Amino acid sequence: MSESIKDAESTILSVSQSLIKNYWAYKEGNFCGEALYRMNILHEAEFEPTEAMMLGHYFEFLCTGASLRDGSEPAMPATKAGKATAGALKMQEQAKRFKKLVDAEGITIKETGLVVEHFPKGESFKLKGIFDINGSVKGTDSIIDIKSSGLIGNEWEAYGWHKGTFNMRKQLTIQVVFYKYLAWKEFGVEDMPFYFIVHSSTNEIDSIFWEVRLADFEVAMNHFEDMVFEVAREIEMEMQFGFTPYPDVKRCGKCALKDKCVYAVETPQLEIVTIDGIFE
Ligand code: SF4
Repeated sequence: MSESIKDAESTILSVSQSLIKNYWAYKEGNFCGEALYRMNILHEAEFEPTEAMMLGHYFEFLCTGASLRDGSEPAMPATKAGKATAGALKMQEQAKRFKKLVDAEGITIKETGLVVEHFPKGESFKLKGIFDINGSVKGTDSIIDIKSSGLIGNEWEAYGWHKGTFNMRKQLTIQVVFYKYLAWKEFGVEDMPFYFIVHSSTNEIDSIFWEVRLADFEVAMNHFEDMVFEVAREIEMEMQFGFTPYPDVKRCGKCALKDKCVYAVETPQLEIVTIDGIFE
């Protein structure tokens, strides 16, 4: 990487799939703009990992040996007595299932946590993704993403893993299109195969292995590029004029910035609730 790119890297906007997803939520009024700006963009603080996220990190470590971003080993979720929690025990069983899958399907893990960045020509932002597994499936180079989820088979939730409704889950499908785009731009591979391997965090059995294909690679790439460039430019505009904070007692209570945020609230805001007066 050249020095000029390295210099630019520290100052330019880094657009990741999580920034895009949080920006979508912000546009709908469901994510605080102050938190988006200070955590997703300025990286002043990390989002507090939920228990589910910590369990997911532990599971990934058991599967591939992947460390946390700071290089440390994820801790086993433990009881006060120091024993594995019920969730951790399930993930230990699921990690064994993952390893059986790796053998059965001819999956090779070349590297984990591969950071892939693309600097679009003439733009002042970069696109960034982290491939859980840069590997191959039956000898073909592939992007492989591992997840643990309590929503396998769920057709209603935004993060539900249900084949029939997956196409509508933009919070999940964005990753496929984004990472295929990065592989195309940075590795020169068109339509690199993308696999999701998802193991249940609520039982020891449920698991899925999906290859996610695009109906039309070129169309998807064009749509993605239009969308991501527009989002990046909108974010750059908001950075100039200021994001709108959306304080909320629940949101602020869990926010890593709550002690150093002038907008933080500790009490619920007044809301007007109307009844229509009809009793039956
Ligand atoms: S403390 Fe509340 S208002 Fe401040 S950034 Fe966090 S969620 Fe937003």
